[in-house]
Amino acid sequence: MSTSPEPGASPNDAERGAAPAGATLLALSKPELAARVVELGGKPFHARIVRENVLAKGELDYARMTSLPAALRERLAAELPILSGTELARSHALDKTTKLVIEFPRDGKREVSVETVHMPSLWVGGDGDAIQGATLCVSTQAGCPIGCPFCASGQLGLARNLAAHEIVEQYVRGRALGPLARSVVMGMGEPLLNYENLSAALDVVHDEMGLGSRKITVSTVGFPDRLNKLAPKKPRFQLAISLHTPVQEERDVLVPAMKGVPIEDIVSAGDFWFAATGREITYEVILLGGDNDTPLHAERLVALLRGRRCSVNLIPFNPVAESPFRRPSPERVEDFRAALEHGGLVATVRWSRGVESDAACGQLRLRVAGRT
Ligand code: SAH
Repeated sequence: MSTSPEPGASPNDAERGAAPAGATLLALSKPELAARVVELGGKPFHARIVRENVLAKGELDYARMTSLPAALRERLAAELPILSGTELARSHALDKTTKLVIEFPRDGKREVSVETVHMPSLWVGGDGDAIQGATLCVSTQAGCPIGCPFCASGQLGLARNLAAHEIVEQYVRGRALGPLARSVVMGMGEPLLNYENLSAALDVVHDEMGLGSRKITVSTVGFPDRLNKLAPKKPRFQLAISLHTPVQEERDVLVPAMKGVPIEDIVSAGDFWFAATGREITYEVILLGGDNDTPLHAERLVALLRGRRCSVNLIPFNPVAESPFRRPSPERVEDFRAALEHGGLVATVRWSRGVESDAACGQLRLRVAGRT
């Protein structure tokens, strides 16, 4: 987002820093913003102050950016909206999770809305200090083309890819709710199918919002060819791969868009990623009660991943309306985890947060879409 011009603007306009008409602040590159600020009567360095306020502090009200001249604040407020999306819904859960449904400009007839979830917690940092901050879960696409039968996000198909600034906007809205300690790109959509925009957005998040590489996790269904091309570039995030089952025929059904892609190729791509980046992979397995949570599944998962420096996150299925799948009992989940551990794997259970207020995995957006 910081370098590419808006559609319709010639490269020369972008090089000169001319602002595309009607663009919001987050959609402008740094030179474009500087030019716009000068047009509105400010100095180029005021642009840096504005970006710092928005990105580092989550300040969404120009009136409170008191290091800017009052006249400039007024012109900015009147003429340069910061965000391009609209908050359609917000829900709060007892565990302080906040879920936002954000609508972005439509694409033809398709409604374009995504979910962003802010989950405050107390983290213990590497030096043993307690860090107060939230984990933000962001979306990369409105809808999703992968079609996993247990997931609410794909039920309406893909509307469109999000622009880089729309991904950044989710971070800014999240930051406005409170400081961010970590981020997971595990909201709606498949990150590797909108990689250029995601990568441009994460550059901004790293450089101007202060979230380091180890604090950002991107979750993917794991396209081996794409991963193999990306690994040598050492992308600045942790990688999680949604594996879900060690059985090929089952994965072909659980992750339809990956039908026919051998599980072994995905694990090999994971190995190559680790070798090239030095960062361990997390394999995610959704646990569907009575389905992929049997002792045999645990055994085969151990056989598949044994000996690798990686970890496994077990995600008990979070029930979605009208789904044929069931959530396994806590005992069954623990048995599965213990079996992996017994086999030498590092396995952690991740219960979804915000379940009681529709703040888990795609549910709120689906409800809002059903209503409108
Ligand atoms: N497309 C990417 C990222 C989005 S999904 C991917 O598949 O990894 C992020 C994670 O949420 C995935 O592991 C997915 O399997 C999980 N998930 C989706 N629906 C869920 C549900 N109903 N309950 C629990 N986890 C779910």
